[in-house]
Amino acid sequence: MAPLLMALALAAAPADLVPPSPPPAAASGSSGSIDPAAATRAYLDQLPAEQRAKSDAYFEGGYWLTLWDFLYGAGVFLLLLQTGFSARMRDFAERVTRIRALQTGLYWAMFTVVVAVLSFPLSLYRDYFREHSYGLSNLSFGGWFGEQLKGLALSIVFGALAMMALYAVVRRLPRTWWLWGAGVAIVFLAFAALITPIFIVPIFNSPKKLEDARVVAPILSLARANGVNASEVWEVDASKQSKRVSANVSGFLGTERITLNDNLLNRASLPEIEAVMGHEMGHYVLNHIYKGLMEIGIVIVLGFAAVAWGFGKLRGRNESKWRVRDVGDVAGLPLAALLFTAYLFVMTPVVNSIVRVQEIEADMFGLNAARQPDGFAQSALKLSEYRKLDPAPVEELLFYDHPSGRARIFMAMRWKAEHPETWGRGASEGELSH
Ligand SMILES: [Zn+2]
Repeated sequence: MAPLLMALALAAAPADLVPPSPPPAAASGSSGSIDPAAATRAYLDQLPAEQRAKSDAYFEGGYWLTLWDFLYGAGVFLLLLQTGFSARMRDFAERVTRIRALQTGLYWAMFTVVVAVLSFPLSLYRDYFREHSYGLSNLSFGGWFGEQLKGLALSIVFGALAMMALYAVVRRLPRTWWLWGAGVAIVFLAFAALITPIFIVPIFNSPKKLEDARVVAPILSLARANGVNASEVWEVDASKQSKRVSANVSGFLGTERITLNDNLLNRASLPEIEAVMGHEMGHYVLNHIYKGLMEIGIVIVLGFAAVAWGFGKLRGRNESKWRVRDVGDVAGLPLAALLFTAYLFVMTPVVNSIVRVQEIEADMFGLNAARQPDGFAQSALKLSEYRKLDPAPVEELLFYDHPSGRARIFMAMRWKAEHPETWGRGASEGELSH
């Protein structure tokens, strides 16, 4: 009995936590004060030049990928229209069933599969070969392909439901559908945000309850201090896919949960983990999901209005070739998708800025909540493995959906300089030791 218990205890023994690393000299406050600019530079200099060149190249390549993604997708949608293939898929759906909603669902399933097949070369390059060439993916080809198939199945099922609802609105309200349809889209986005952590994440990963009290206790304490309604902490095995560190606080209406990924647990010290969790709790406490849905909702209303306008102009002119009858005809979906993706492409800086502003707010909240400016700076450096560390201001404005590493480290060092009670003479032994 005793050896069995010992074996069990050993098996359950948590791995060692990463020890906190001391801040660089310029950020230590040993001289009695901290110059935020000098402290920021000292942190930025910790990232080896070679690694910095690599993450700059990866991130800048992403700017171009946004353009290639749009152009490639536009080509696919145009091909479906010009060859009459979209109309043929609609004709087939109409032969199979007389029920209009089922025709829409069936068309959507065919459309999704055809688009996935035609877009496969680009996604193979972008999501498999490119990620591997930068050392950012841990998936084998089989594992990656399996995830693609799961994603395809999910978008067939949930996308069909959304399309059936959307087209029902378009057909009943052909003149004002863009307004009501945007409402339908927002409801589906909210639904996705609600079910993703609980029903979708387990399709790709295996979340489990985190039991290590050394990590759980301070996180739950931080949660209680900030009104986050969660009593458990979860761990998700993201190392299956990549080495990216991440966490989130998700859910509403009783589905709240705090989740850390295993990369964060295995690669970050407790002060870094606390800094990251303070940020994630900020998203939750500041109601970013609701605010984001409203802001993105405005972007969608304007986008649907643009689609309604463009659809009217282009459909009539190409009626004989495309055989799209009206805006309620599902065969016109590639045209609607073409117009909407063009709109989103133009709106990229706006959408990025909506998200980035929330990220800055969560950063500020997290610094105040966790009071770990060095942990915050160190985790910002880890995120710079795949995000350019020190961009030009206009570059950050256009392309960044999170603040850059430099902006985040500067924010942390300014906070630290202005809160000497956390490191200066006012700090107690206990505060200094973690
Ligand atoms: Zn965030």
